[in-house]
Amino acid sequence: MFDDLRDLYQEVIFDHNRNPRNFRVMDNPDRKVEGFNPLCGDRLTLYLKMAGDTIEDASFQGSGCAISTASVSLMTEIVKGKTEAEAEALFTQFHEMTTGKDEHFNLEAIGKLAVLAGVREYPARVKCATLAWHTLDAALKNEQQSISTE
Ligand code: ZN
Repeated sequence: MFDDLRDLYQEVIFDHNRNPRNFRVMDNPDRKVEGFNPLCGDRLTLYLKMAGDTIEDASFQGSGCAISTASVSLMTEIVKGKTEAEAEALFTQFHEMTTGKDEHFNLEAIGKLAVLAGVREYPARVKCATLAWHTLDAALKNEQQSISTE
Protein backbone atom coordinates (compact mmCIF):
# COMPACT_ATOMS: atom_id res chain seq x y z
CA MET A 1 0.00 0.00 0.00
CA PHE A 2 1.36 3.45 -0.86
CA ASP A 3 2.25 5.64 2.10
CA ASP A 4 -0.04 8.42 0.90
CA LEU A 5 -2.98 6.05 0.81
CA ARG A 6 -2.10 4.64 4.23
CA ASP A 7 -2.03 8.19 5.65
CA LEU A 8 -5.40 8.93 4.08
CA TYR A 9 -6.87 5.72 5.49
CA GLN A 10 -5.54 6.54 8.96
CA GLU A 11 -6.98 10.03 8.71
CA VAL A 12 -10.44 8.58 7.94
CA ILE A 13 -10.16 6.21 10.93
CA PHE A 14 -9.07 9.05 13.25
CA ASP A 15 -11.91 11.21 11.99
CA HIS A 16 -14.55 8.54 12.62
CA ASN A 17 -13.07 7.82 16.03
CA ARG A 18 -13.10 11.49 17.03
CA ASN A 19 -16.52 12.21 15.54
CA PRO A 20 -18.41 8.92 15.32
CA ARG A 21 -21.38 9.05 12.94
CA ASN A 22 -24.81 7.88 14.15
CA PHE A 23 -23.60 7.81 17.75
CA ARG A 24 -26.94 7.97 19.56
CA VAL A 25 -29.57 5.90 21.30
CA MET A 26 -32.48 5.16 18.97
CA ASP A 27 -36.06 5.53 20.16
CA ASN A 28 -38.12 2.39 19.54
CA PRO A 29 -35.57 0.43 17.51
CA ASP A 30 -36.78 -2.68 15.68
CA ARG A 31 -33.53 -4.44 16.56
CA LYS A 32 -31.14 -3.88 19.43
CA VAL A 33 -28.08 -6.05 20.00
CA GLU A 34 -25.09 -5.63 22.29
CA GLY A 35 -21.66 -6.63 21.02
CA PHE A 36 -18.60 -7.32 23.15
CA ASN A 37 -15.01 -8.04 22.22
CA PRO A 38 -13.35 -9.28 25.44
CA LEU A 39 -9.90 -9.36 23.82
CA CYS A 40 -9.82 -5.58 23.66
CA GLY A 41 -12.74 -4.52 25.85
CA ASP A 42 -14.76 -3.01 22.99
CA ARG A 43 -18.47 -2.71 23.79
CA LEU A 44 -21.25 -1.42 21.62
CA THR A 45 -25.02 -1.46 21.36
CA LEU A 46 -26.33 -1.45 17.81
CA TYR A 47 -29.81 -0.15 16.98
CA LEU A 48 -31.65 -0.75 13.72
CA LYS A 49 -34.88 0.62 12.32
CA MET A 50 -36.25 -1.64 9.59
CA ALA A 51 -38.67 -0.93 6.75
CA GLY A 52 -39.57 -4.37 5.45
CA ASP A 53 -36.19 -5.95 4.75
CA THR A 54 -34.44 -2.59 4.29
CA ILE A 55 -32.31 -0.98 6.99
CA GLU A 56 -33.95 2.41 7.32
CA ASP A 57 -31.76 3.70 10.13
CA ALA A 58 -28.75 2.47 12.11
CA SER A 59 -27.12 3.94 15.21
CA PHE A 60 -24.92 2.84 18.08
CA GLN A 61 -23.67 3.60 21.57
CA GLY A 62 -20.73 2.24 23.43
CA SER A 63 -17.03 2.59 23.99
CA GLY A 64 -14.06 0.91 22.43
CA CYS A 65 -10.72 1.43 20.75
CA ALA A 66 -10.25 3.64 17.69
CA ILE A 67 -10.54 0.72 15.27
CA SER A 68 -13.81 -0.61 16.71
CA THR A 69 -15.35 2.86 16.94
CA ALA A 70 -14.33 3.81 13.40
CA SER A 71 -15.58 0.47 12.11
CA VAL A 72 -19.05 0.73 13.63
CA SER A 73 -19.31 4.41 12.63
CA LEU A 74 -18.46 3.59 9.00
CA MET A 75 -20.79 0.59 9.08
CA THR A 76 -23.84 2.52 10.29
CA GLU A 77 -23.25 4.98 7.45
CA ILE A 78 -22.86 2.40 4.72
CA VAL A 79 -25.72 0.02 5.64
CA LYS A 80 -28.43 2.70 5.75
CA GLY A 81 -30.79 2.10 2.85
CA LYS A 82 -29.36 -1.35 2.18
CA THR A 83 -31.46 -4.51 2.22
CA GLU A 84 -30.62 -7.32 4.64
CA ALA A 85 -29.15 -9.34 1.76
CA GLU A 86 -26.98 -6.42 0.65
CA ALA A 87 -25.75 -5.85 4.21
CA GLU A 88 -24.92 -9.55 4.62
CA ALA A 89 -22.99 -9.47 1.33
CA LEU A 90 -21.00 -6.47 2.59
CA PHE A 91 -20.26 -8.31 5.84
CA THR A 92 -18.88 -11.25 3.86
CA GLN A 93 -16.68 -8.97 1.77
CA PHE A 94 -15.53 -7.03 4.81
CA HIS A 95 -14.68 -10.23 6.67
CA GLU A 96 -12.68 -11.54 3.74
CA MET A 97 -10.85 -8.24 3.42
CA THR A 98 -9.91 -8.00 7.11
CA THR A 99 -8.90 -11.63 7.47
CA GLY A 100 -6.83 -11.47 4.29
CA LYS A 101 -8.59 -14.35 2.57
CA ASP A 102 -9.33 -12.20 -0.41
CA GLU A 103 -6.31 -10.16 -1.50
CA HIS A 104 -8.26 -8.67 -4.36
CA PHE A 105 -11.39 -7.50 -2.61
CA ASN A 106 -13.87 -5.53 -4.66
CA LEU A 107 -12.94 -1.93 -3.87
CA GLU A 108 -16.02 -0.58 -5.58
CA ALA A 109 -18.36 -2.70 -3.48
CA ILE A 110 -16.55 -2.17 -0.21
CA GLY A 111 -16.10 1.59 -0.72
CA LYS A 112 -14.98 3.53 2.32
CA LEU A 113 -14.68 0.33 4.36
CA ALA A 114 -11.38 -0.23 2.57
CA VAL A 115 -9.77 2.13 5.10
CA LEU A 116 -9.87 -0.81 7.53
CA ALA A 117 -8.05 -3.22 5.22
CA GLY A 118 -4.83 -2.52 7.15
CA VAL A 119 -6.02 -4.48 10.20
CA ARG A 120 -5.23 -7.71 8.38
CA GLU A 121 -1.60 -6.98 9.27
CA TYR A 122 -2.58 -6.98 12.95
CA PRO A 123 -4.48 -10.19 13.73
CA ALA A 124 -5.27 -9.03 17.28
CA ARG A 125 -7.16 -6.05 15.86
CA VAL A 126 -9.29 -7.98 13.38
CA LYS A 127 -11.94 -8.60 16.05
CA CYS A 128 -12.02 -4.87 16.83
CA ALA A 129 -12.85 -4.19 13.17
CA THR A 130 -15.35 -7.03 12.75
CA LEU A 131 -17.23 -6.63 16.08
CA ALA A 132 -19.67 -4.15 14.52
CA TRP A 133 -20.42 -6.55 11.66
CA HIS A 134 -20.90 -9.60 13.87
CA THR A 135 -23.31 -7.50 15.93
CA LEU A 136 -25.15 -6.42 12.76
CA ASP A 137 -25.32 -10.03 11.62
CA ALA A 138 -26.98 -11.03 14.91
CA ALA A 139 -29.36 -8.06 14.67
CA LEU A 140 -30.43 -8.95 11.14
CA LYS A 141 -30.95 -12.59 12.03
CA ASN A 142 -32.87 -11.35 15.06
CA GLU A 143 -31.58 -14.28 17.09
CA GLN A 144 -29.71 -12.86 20.06
CA GLN A 145 -29.72 -9.85 22.35
CA SER A 146 -25.97 -9.91 22.80
CA ILE A 147 -22.93 -11.41 21.13
CA SER A 148 -19.30 -11.87 22.05
CA THR A 149 -16.40 -12.33 19.66
CA GLU A 150 -14.99 -15.03 21.94
ZN1 ZN B 1 -10.54 -2.89 20.04
